[in-house]
Amino acid sequence: MAQILIEAKDLEVTYNVGKSNEFKALKGVDVEVCSGEYIILFGTSGSGKSTLMNCILGSLPNSGGYFAVKGEEVYKYTVEEMVYYQQVMVGIMFQTFNLIPSLTVLDNVALPQIFASQPIEKRQAKAQDLLDRFGVGHTSHKVPTNLSGGQQQRVSVARSLVNDPEILLCDEPVGNLDSRSATDVMNTIEEVNQRDGKTIILVTHDAKHLPYAHRVYYLQDGEIIREVPNPEKEQIKEVEEPGGGLVSEIEHLTRLFPYVSLEEVRVKSLINFLTQDINFDQVQALEKVVYRYICGTLSDKELRRVLRLRLENGGVGVEESHAREMARELSKLMQRSQEVSRFRKLVKSHSAYYRHKYIKRLRRHLEKRFELKLSDAQKRGMNQALTDRLMGILRKEDFKSRLRRSTNREGAGLKPNTTRAICDYLEKLIAQGVAFEKHKH
Ligand code: ADP
Ligand code: MG
Repeated sequence: MAQILIEAKDLEVTYNVGKSNEFKALKGVDVEVCSGEYIILFGTSGSGKSTLMNCILGSLPNSGGYFAVKGEEVYKYTVEEMVYYQQVMVGIMFQTFNLIPSLTVLDNVALPQIFASQPIEKRQAKAQDLLDRFGVGHTSHKVPTNLSGGQQQRVSVARSLVNDPEILLCDEPVGNLDSRSATDVMNTIEEVNQRDGKTIILVTHDAKHLPYAHRVYYLQDGEIIREVPNPEKEQIKEVEEPGGGLVSEIEHLTRLFPYVSLEEVRVKSLINFLTQDINFDQVQALEKVVYRYICGTLSDKELRRVLRLRLENGGVGVEESHAREMARELSKLMQRSQEVSRFRKLVKSHSAYYRHKYIKRLRRHLEKRFELKLSDAQKRGMNQALTDRLMGILRKEDFKSRLRRSTNREGAGLKPNTTRAICDYLEKLIAQGVAFEKHKH
């Protein structure tokens, strides 16, 4: 069984207690971290990440709840015990590198060992080893300001590890770096977790970093609103089924889409509800199939077959008539969107004759699809509206009102419900058509 290293229960931190500007930055937070885990605290600015981090570091006492490391309550430590905790148990690195500018790189890294009662040569040798390991050994005699940001942060990693702490705390460690150095430092931190077995707690507001962690705590307004295990990493802490065995679909979806927001997960759940005749696994399978279809690796005929094929055989498992209807809809939509794409090319070559042909065909398709009975004047109005929309002269909203406008004012005289449906459908064609153009380039 995994060993709990850090435990917070109902943890509260209040700033400026008793003053007019009293502010509760953590409002009852539960956190459990096991030895060897890589944990990310994720949330927008002001959500309380640094507050939680400083509390774990032992530099910001909690004003309520329970906080312990290895079963010992950190804020009940004596002064000596606290010094030991902060020097030897935890290492820390920040967004700003916090290196001392008047010391050489080597001395910066050697410094935290001051309490280790080692002779200076040993301390320096250890510092040099770490600098070498993180690829900045050649900078040891320089002062930090002569190093690049990425190099300085790798020096910080070395410094935070020099006392061999069990826990490494990183508060936005790559927030000040360009993306290449950032990836570099993130990989270094991951190695410290994987190879050295250090427990990592890292603060970030960048979703791109989430895949590094075993688990992510999402913070918002001083509360943990979600806890998500990374499905791509073997979990160290046992994952409990939330709600005493009652796993809601939201939790199921959360595991499948760990990096999207809760709102998106809820949307997926609702979409699932709206397409009730196929279940969630089928929706997923369908997404994959449609992807192959739009990439052109699946023909219309194969599409029909795969839609019908059972889930366990790599299909989507919808029933025959439904499969046929879906395939037909998709195929029509793709054909029309290819025409949209072709039409847009013709705009560039000024070939009005073919342009008109496409527009007529598109209009007839819409007439049929939406069961319209149009007068000649309405047809003319609609042709013009379609042309202008596809040429980019009309915006979506203007297209809608043009369709609604009466025919003697160059509109198509359609009812609001119809215009809305046509407009939404046309936007789908345009979206697919434009994407199609990009795809082919
Ligand atoms: P994060 O690191 O997620 O951006 P912080 O933990 O720094 O958030 O801050 C959480 C909230 O607490 C913010 O609203 C911030 O303004 C407030 N806060 C942080 N430090 C102090 C402080 N020393 N005194 C008063 N309020 C603070
Ligand atoms: Mg912060």
